[in-house]
Amino acid sequence: MRTTTVVVGAGHAGLAMSRCLAERGIDHVVLERGEVANSWRTERWDSLRLLTPNWQSRLPGFGYQGEHPDGFRTMPEVIDFIEGYARAISAPVRTHTRVISMRPTDAGYLVRTDRGDWHARCVVLASGACNVPCVPRLAEAVSPAIRTLTPTTYRNPDQLEDGGVLVVGASATGVQLADEIHRSGRPVTLAVGEHIRAPRTYRGRDIQWWMDAAGVLDQRYDEVDDIDRARRVPSLQLVGSPERAMLDLNALRDDGVRLVGRLAGIADGRLQFSGSLANQCTLSDLKLGRLLDAIDRFATEHGLDGEVGSPHRFSPTRVDESPTLTLDLARSGIRTILWATGFRPDYTWLEVPVLDRKGRIRHDGGVTPAPGLYVMGLPFLRRRRSQLIDGAGADARELSAHLAAYLHGQVIEAAA
Ligand SMILES: Cc1cc2nc3c(=O)[nH]c(=O)nc-3n(C[C@H](O)[C@H](O)[C@H](O)COP(=O)(O)OP(=O)(O)OC[C@H]3O[C@@H](n4cnc5c(N)ncnc54)[C@H](O)[C@@H]3O)c2cc1C
Repeated sequence: MRTTTVVVGAGHAGLAMSRCLAERGIDHVVLERGEVANSWRTERWDSLRLLTPNWQSRLPGFGYQGEHPDGFRTMPEVIDFIEGYARAISAPVRTHTRVISMRPTDAGYLVRTDRGDWHARCVVLASGACNVPCVPRLAEAVSPAIRTLTPTTYRNPDQLEDGGVLVVGASATGVQLADEIHRSGRPVTLAVGEHIRAPRTYRGRDIQWWMDAAGVLDQRYDEVDDIDRARRVPSLQLVGSPERAMLDLNALRDDGVRLVGRLAGIADGRLQFSGSLANQCTLSDLKLGRLLDAIDRFATEHGLDGEVGSPHRFSPTRVDESPTLTLDLARSGIRTILWATGFRPDYTWLEVPVLDRKGRIRHDGGVTPAPGLYVMGLPFLRRRRSQLIDGAGADARELSAHLAAYLHGQVIEAAA
């Protein structure tokens, strides 16, 4: 089978690209190993809601039409939304078609699937940034008597043994799961490394509204000093709940979650935690202060001070003077460890030499060094909002323009 462009993955990013290719009259197919929105169907826990408000999931030609623009979608609602988009744009999706390998040919690429081969001049990888949970090496030292889970295997607290739970990682996923598991009546210990504290609302407006309005999310990949670092920044400690509650370490600690430092090692059945918890929290408080300063400046410069609430600051993160540094796993009562330590893409099927030593794809704003090969949906791909549903539209427009120019034989360095 032949087509001009293969798009791998029918999440929102692949679909946004499909819509932009169709607008340009570029013949393409979208190959999807499961159903449309497969990641949201199969890889998320039951209670998850988006942490971005409904109004903020804007895709090319498709926005929120409901009555709760400030609400947060549940997983069934996210699936409906993405499915609705695929229908609205009549995306040429081939579901249940898994790409098993892909390699360059004289005329472009050979994309092999479990339902036949495709030849294409261009390929867009929209196969997701969060296919595989990152679990640190030290997990190998955990005794088999302890159950280990990741955010993709965790569904709800009923799955868990009785007894204590150690959640490793305190970004959005870690704080949300620590909170849910603690509420199920299990004692929770949360190992905290680098994290970004954020209020749900500030001066009466959602934090995402401020970051959107102030242009923080539009910051471009070629404008930041250290893009490698910016691409590795953890997610904000946020939860999308109807109560619009702030879920920071103070809230968790007040509810009874035990906070410890970053999990640094496991030896002879003992967990060792870094002593840097207080420093990490101070750093996070400082960054929060800088974000709020920037918001306040923006509000004043744009004449919003009369319309929104007054500026204020949040009390510093409280940590124990001498937090626990070691725990004997057997005696601690911990029966489960949940690794909320991030995610990475899966490119094991990609036989194109575009990966670096760490297996990360090399790209300049989504344009890879391999002619006609593009990538979508990665953190800070082209702008800070790139990995959000809301970021796919602008990225797809620019990358489809680059792809169209490539097809027309123009020499181009990077997308505009
Ligand atoms: C826990 C969690 C919470 C998040 N919360 C938010 C949020 O609140 N708001 C927000 O805007 N974003 C959120 N995101 C980020 C982002 O929206 C997701 O990472 C999103 O799923 C990325 O979209 P995508 O289309 O790039 O990838 P995906 O949705 O992962 O889509 C990739 C598709 O490619 C398919 N695929 C992969 N490999 C193959 C293959 N070999 N062959 C064929 N098909 C393949 C997959 O089945 C999948 O359907 C969250 C992410 C996670 C993990």
